[in-house]
Amino acid sequence: MAISRTFQIQRYGTPPVEIQSDTPEPLGHEVLLNVSHTGVCHSDVHIMDGYQDLGGGERMNFADSAMPLPLTMGHEIVGTVEAVGDKADQALLGQRRLVFPWIGCGECVSCQGEQDNHCEKPRTLGIFSQGGYGEHVIVPNQKYLIEMDGLDPAWTCTLACSGLTVFSALRQIQPIKPNSYVAIVGMGGLGLMAVSIAVALGIKNIIACDISDDRLAIARELGATAALNTSTPEAEHELAALANGRLFGVIDTVGLPSTIQLAIAATMKGARVVVIGLAGGRIELPLPTLPFNALSLIGTYTGSLDEMQELVELAKTETIPPMPIDLKPLDCLHETLEALRAGEVVGRVVLTP
Ligand SMILES: [Zn+2]
Ligand SMILES: [Zn+2]
Repeated sequence: MAISRTFQIQRYGTPPVEIQSDTPEPLGHEVLLNVSHTGVCHSDVHIMDGYQDLGGGERMNFADSAMPLPLTMGHEIVGTVEAVGDKADQALLGQRRLVFPWIGCGECVSCQGEQDNHCEKPRTLGIFSQGGYGEHVIVPNQKYLIEMDGLDPAWTCTLACSGLTVFSALRQIQPIKPNSYVAIVGMGGLGLMAVSIAVALGIKNIIACDISDDRLAIARELGATAALNTSTPEAEHELAALANGRLFGVIDTVGLPSTIQLAIAATMKGARVVVIGLAGGRIELPLPTLPFNALSLIGTYTGSLDEMQELVELAKTETIPPMPIDLKPLDCLHETLEALRAGEVVGRVVLTP
């Protein structure tokens, strides 16, 4: 039996450790991938810590959830099919595929409606079942493998989480009012990807917001039509002014009280503020602002399999300007998670086993 290397979280609050074990064997409909690229997502920092900050001193503890320990994290996976179960297609052997990781139970109303990402009992790879920070990963069914011929695997793996999440969030603000503006808050991996995909979707007026001029410069290179450093107390007024009072959509990739308050304060009537960032905290919101301003405050979580297929099609047919990708060996997992925590990563770090 061949040996396979993975990095596992064994206890919350401790770094992932290297484990060598037998290469798993795919059974039935399962497919075994030899992982070539795994993107490192900021949510893995929270998983490693074992909790999500809910603000006001409250925490969501993952020890109380269905998340298993030990856990191999990693949900932005590209790999080559190495073995298949007896009910899976032999023709997949040797094929390179992008993995849809947001796999549901298959039985609840969300799964029956093809929205695995809303499943009540998710089996997400790298979160609720073993993921891609290793040499191999088991995917439960070949329907979660997406053909990606012609696309760069190092960048394409990032479509599985950051790409899909912003693609689905950008859908929530469609159709955009004529001559209005869209702001994207936070120019980390999610935000830069949101700028790129907004450009590919043909959105005309894109304002990038961040507190770092260097990140804003990258956003301009990717196609943002304006950039705003939001570290000043006047940021609300500056953002509203940059949009000529017509800020219709905001994608908040940070999810802090300050970023959501900025978004709500700067938008026009009828606007949509979509929250996808998980930084945490809570806000006080004067409730009449919702009806008076016809404001939609929307949360989205990743996206569906259909949306991921559409996104990969978009990547094949339109140019999605690629954000910076930093390729590193898998051994750099823990230092990468700490760099993400410290806000030091520009674009996406992608690990190769
Ligand atoms: Zn992610
Ligand atoms: Zn389900």
